[in-house]
Amino acid sequence: MSDLLPLPSGTEDTANSAGARTALLGGASADEYAALLHEVVDAVADRFRTVTSPSVGPDRQSLRAMVEEVELDTAGIGSRDALREADRLYAGHAVWFHHPAYTAHLNCPVVVPAVAAETMLAAINTSVDTYDQSLVATYMERRLIDWTAQRIGLPGGDGVFTSGGTQSNLQGLFLARERALRGLDGPRRENLPRLRLLAGAAGHFSVARSALLLGLDEDAVVTVADDEDGRLDPAALEQEMARLDAAGDVVMAVSVTAGTTDRGVIDPLGPVARLCAERGVWLHVDAAYGGGLLLSPSRRHLLAGIEHADSVTVDFHKTFFQPVSSSALLVRDGADLAAAAWHADYLNPAAEAGGEEAEPNQVDKSLQTTRRFDALKLWTTLRSLGPDRLGTMVDQVCDLAAEVTTLLECDPDFTVLGRSDLSTVLFRFHPAAIPAARADRLVPLIRRVLFDSGRAMVARTTIDGTPWLKLTLLNPGATLADITAVLDLVRATGRGLLAGVDLAASAPAPATAPEPVATADAAGVQR
Ligand SMILES: *Cc1c(COP(=O)(O)O)cnc(C)c1O
Repeated sequence: MSDLLPLPSGTEDTANSAGARTALLGGASADEYAALLHEVVDAVADRFRTVTSPSVGPDRQSLRAMVEEVELDTAGIGSRDALREADRLYAGHAVWFHHPAYTAHLNCPVVVPAVAAETMLAAINTSVDTYDQSLVATYMERRLIDWTAQRIGLPGGDGVFTSGGTQSNLQGLFLARERALRGLDGPRRENLPRLRLLAGAAGHFSVARSALLLGLDEDAVVTVADDEDGRLDPAALEQEMARLDAAGDVVMAVSVTAGTTDRGVIDPLGPVARLCAERGVWLHVDAAYGGGLLLSPSRRHLLAGIEHADSVTVDFHKTFFQPVSSSALLVRDGADLAAAAWHADYLNPAAEAGGEEAEPNQVDKSLQTTRRFDALKLWTTLRSLGPDRLGTMVDQVCDLAAEVTTLLECDPDFTVLGRSDLSTVLFRFHPAAIPAARADRLVPLIRRVLFDSGRAMVARTTIDGTPWLKLTLLNPGATLADITAVLDLVRATGRGLLAGVDLAASAPAPATAPEPVATADAAGVQR
């Protein structure tokens, strides 16, 4: 690329409107925009070509020091240098979710058309709050909401895109609260403390936190026991409902999970839906993780019963392989969304002058005002790949998790906890010769050594007091051999820790891994 870009440098001659025009994206800067983005895209593409591990395993102190070193109050260094600096600083030290040895959290590798769409929507900077700022984007978002509602089995339902499952859960439970309060006589402040939220023990933390944010009573959240596989027990739910009824409490909602974050299991949606229907209780289904099954050719039946929900959370930035952020809340009855509607004269006045029909403002359905046009990413993804291909990718990660589980079940070095309906695997290094307490202590140490090395990333969690390592497999491009290589690293690290030295640095590397990084040392495990 040529060096002749007169990109803004902060000097005096840029302190006029012409200077602003080169800094801002517009007709005058269109060529520079294209050149700059080409350079950035080439640099990122090169990273993808050459990345050999999920991270380079830098230590916290040096990352922090690198960031602190940058002077933010100097004159601008120009766009090209700024972006090159970002490439070195950020991209050079990022976590790579497309790498097959990244198996930790629910952040997914992303599909190419969505990333391209992201570039488009960032440049145009649409905000889908009011129709007069978004025009066709409003209809595109609405069409995708309709499409998702159809897939769930809520024809005639409605909803809105949100920033994530946390936000979707909050909004769903807010709507449930409002519905419950509408059904009660007397003042809100007297009825609010009577409301109870029944939630599965393995539900996402954002459900309980929503109760706090919604001003519910301290003991408003009633946790319903789950069975040994981690699924909510409908008999326990029925008991709790009866107990609360007898106490004169009001159940404002039952929140269940279609794909728990740790075990990837789906609560019994059908039986729970029947209990809710009998009592007229709002059913919220958190399908942040399991939503991808809506497209699965072989596993859609696992979501049977979801069509009875009053509200559903779906994270497209998990099992639809979308870039962060992209999520939605879907509701059975669109009228419920109006509970959050608020009218501002400057934005979305209640009555249009001259009796005109009100414009279709998405802000009327959302808890946000300015809001990204994230729907464009899902739109281009569906148009590019088609829903069946996406569903097949979901099946691939579920199949992979099942294969890995089977492998671990037969391996004397490991124990494995249950089976996921989705794509998580809970396991630990536990050869018969070592006591359980020792295996407990190894879990965080193994995770830490691997994390520090950058060569593989696994998560850890605790189920009923026992620590487990966790794989969240969201990469349909990963093979069983890739994951076996991660397991071999776990094994070698566990043995090394048992022997008092860290063998991870000399273990056979995964096919795609780099030369061993020397940060995983024996000292590291004592920290
Ligand atoms: C990830 C997750 C959430 C939170 O979603 P964010 O997009 O991270 O806000 C909620 N519920 C479940 C079951 C999840 O797995």
